[in-house]
Amino acid sequence: MSALKVGIIGAGPSGLAMLRAFESEQKKGNPVPEIKCYEKQDNWGGMWNYTWRTGVGQYGEPLHGSMYKYLWSNGPKECLEFADYTFSEHFDQAISSYPPREVLFDYIEGRIKQSNAREYIQFNTVARWVDYLPESKQFRVVFDNLKKNETFEELFDYLVVATGHFSTPNMPYFEGIDSFPGAVMHAHDFRGADQFKDQKLLLIGSSYSAEDIGVQCYKHGSAGVTISYRSNPIGMKWPEGMEEKPLVTHFEGNEAFFKDGTSESYDAVILCTGYQHKFPFLPDNLRLKTKNCLYPDGLYKGVVSQANEQLLFLGMQDQYYTFNMFDTQAWFVRDYILDRIQLPDHAERAQDIAHWMATEAATTTGDEHIDFQTSYIRDLMRYTDYPPFNLDQVATMFKSWLKDKEDNILSYRDKVYTSVMDNTKAEKHHTSWMKELDDSLERYLGEETLADAQAPHPANA
Ligand code: FAD
Ligand code: NAP
Ligand code: MG
Repeated sequence: MSALKVGIIGAGPSGLAMLRAFESEQKKGNPVPEIKCYEKQDNWGGMWNYTWRTGVGQYGEPLHGSMYKYLWSNGPKECLEFADYTFSEHFDQAISSYPPREVLFDYIEGRIKQSNAREYIQFNTVARWVDYLPESKQFRVVFDNLKKNETFEELFDYLVVATGHFSTPNMPYFEGIDSFPGAVMHAHDFRGADQFKDQKLLLIGSSYSAEDIGVQCYKHGSAGVTISYRSNPIGMKWPEGMEEKPLVTHFEGNEAFFKDGTSESYDAVILCTGYQHKFPFLPDNLRLKTKNCLYPDGLYKGVVSQANEQLLFLGMQDQYYTFNMFDTQAWFVRDYILDRIQLPDHAERAQDIAHWMATEAATTTGDEHIDFQTSYIRDLMRYTDYPPFNLDQVATMFKSWLKDKEDNILSYRDKVYTSVMDNTKAEKHHTSWMKELDDSLERYLGEETLADAQAPHPANA
């Protein structure tokens, strides 16, 4: 067993879940393969590792991060909680249900810091190319150590791709946008609402990025926000100053024209048009080719590649569930690699995939999508010893979250939920979300808990 080598690409929540899964096995005294993880950024956390940079990173690689200042969880933390490491265990106190980015980063890091996982990760190292060698049944992976500017290669029996899929923008063209005089950017490059204060904004796209960047900019003082949809409007009760319009047909100067015949001028355009699954390091025959959906084609149980049984993908689904879904996937992959889970043959796997895909195709409402992903996770959990938790209750919280947003898109983050992992009821944040302009960890944990933080926060002084 110890002769087996497993390579993990990416140390975001998915890659870290893989490391945690093997660690939990090691703790039981069981043998685990040799594991190496490679991360192109200089730290772990993936998306949650905020960077001010845009475009390229320190060493000229396409920049991974799409997160921005003032980003708060857009779903209840009780829905993403690790089953083996609760928020209460980490923070030692109840916190609100929608923490800001830095707080979630701290939580992710808290779990992985309990182990020596960092020793297994090589940072500032990018996977460049993968070949499968049929004679030895191994992958040869070419890496660049960005810091040293050195190329090297490694051989692996199993390769786990955990590189995320919300990083490479989908950039559609709209006639005339090339001569729009103001800022034009994709949500991937949006780093905070500050620069759009007093500006009239046009956001194109009608999913989470449009919804949240729109609300953020409204909160931080933009002069107006229009969200332009292709298929369906988001359909919230928008406050005065926010509105939805059908798709842009073209631009003339700073004026946008819409399908309903109306037009309006704007100061800036943000394309919230989603992301591409992009694997520039994989040859065409090993690449996962999919749009953003709940059950990508070609992945048995959502993780094992049909193109090559030794190639695994984590976190490639569209995500209601996040951290605990990546965990259940990682536990499955671990037990598969440890030979505890036997795969049915290729045709049977194809049938299983087709069944899940057909079921997804028959879903339309948010509630149905939630039920679908809940069933997927329930199915995965049958195979492993990932600590069982009340999935039905999590699904109920997700549905209630959808309703909270419909009731009030500006205050849904003030709601509190109860953990299914340890029954901790969340505490309301000391300040309502709309009034809270400081998203730092100190401010978040401060006032209510630290004895030395009794003085009023500078923002309120
Ligand atoms: P990522 O977090 O994207 O991590 C992938 C890692 O792989 C990165 O560290 C990257 O540097 C590395 N990598 C990529 N390519 C290579 C390579 N070739 N070589 C080496 N390393 C590589 N989820 C929530 O639960 N709540 C939220 O509020 C929330 N907000 C979000 C906001 C935004 C703007 C975005 C884009 C996503 C948000 N998400 C949220 C979803 C997010 O995708 C998940 O929470 C989670 O980060 C996914 O983990 P991952 O490890 O699969 O991917
Ligand atoms: P997404 O959910 O994949 O949505 C992409 C959107 O782009 C869809 O509305 C799609 O419209 C639209 N689109 C695609 N091509 C288009 C075109 N040619 N013209 C017009 N519209 C087009 O991507 P996302 O909204 O960027 O969300 C990505 C992830 O980031 C999610 O997991 C989300 O939870 C996360 N996120 C979280 C926060 C937070 O507050 N914590 C904030 C932002 C993002 P159709 O419906 O017509 O296909
Ligand atoms: Mg089980």
